[in-house]
Amino acid sequence: FELYVSSIADPIDNTRSFLFVFRDRTNEELADEAKNEFISIVSHELRTPLASVLGFMEILLNRDVPKEKQHKYMETIYKEANRLSNLINDFLDLQRMESGKQSYHMVPTDVSALVHDVAEQWHGKQGHRIELEAEPGLLVTADVDRLTQVMHNLISNAVKYSPGADKVAVSVRREGEDAVIEVRDSGLGIPDDAKEKLFNKFYRVDNSDRRQIGGTGLGLAIVKEIVDSHRGTLSFDSELGRGSTFRVRLKTYRVSGLGGKVVVLED
Ligand code: ADP
Repeated sequence: FELYVSSIADPIDNTRSFLFVFRDRTNEELADEAKNEFISIVSHELRTPLASVLGFMEILLNRDVPKEKQHKYMETIYKEANRLSNLINDFLDLQRMESGKQSYHMVPTDVSALVHDVAEQWHGKQGHRIELEAEPGLLVTADVDRLTQVMHNLISNAVKYSPGADKVAVSVRREGEDAVIEVRDSGLGIPDDAKEKLFNKFYRVDNSDRRQIGGTGLGLAIVKEIVDSHRGTLSFDSELGRGSTFRVRLKTYRVSGLGGKVVVLED
């Protein structure tokens, strides 16, 4: 803390007023440090793919590259440019959310249908079938685009981090007042020492089993931001080498099921 004191004398009624200002320097310094670290991570993350794109472009333009190699180089350029584009999109999304500039259009949403749509898009991708078990007609209050983004990120991670497996299980069920969405894979799992950092931005597990798997380390930070903004909870269980289950818990919209019919109650 820094303490500033100033006093003003009032000659008319002979009193003196004091002004005390407490300034929490540590918080400011910590924020500065976090900002600097953030900028250095971002510039590194942007420079690496860009250097690769420029390097391969230069070779293609200035040297006589055999035809079969040309295609390989172009594939690398495409992959790196794609990575750059994902990184920028994720980064801007997260910035907008963290600065409170993201507006959420919250509407009653059939979460089972939403999860079904995303699961369908991933079905058959990268050798995985998506096994979906969803209680029909569960309503939550949500921003459809943002909740869709949550499901894309969780399912894409489940697929990406279970390279040898052939399925990912997704479920939606009611638990009391809550709708619970689970995404379960039988993949690489998460080491214990990584668990508490998993939702931090740019955090990636640096195990040899996943160095080849691309990513930005922003996916779960985005998921956490969105789930928090929905006043939901995000959790996971995972065992290294056995797989992971990610769980999103959201309050259901105020509905009551009467004889199989869903009746929406007015506020
Ligand atoms: P990214 O996948 O882009 O690296 P994320 O924020 O989505 O970033 O995930 C952070 C890290 O958490 C990943 O690097 C990965 O090691 C680990 N992770 C996330 N989901 C899973 C999963 N389903 N199984 C195993 N590890 C996971």
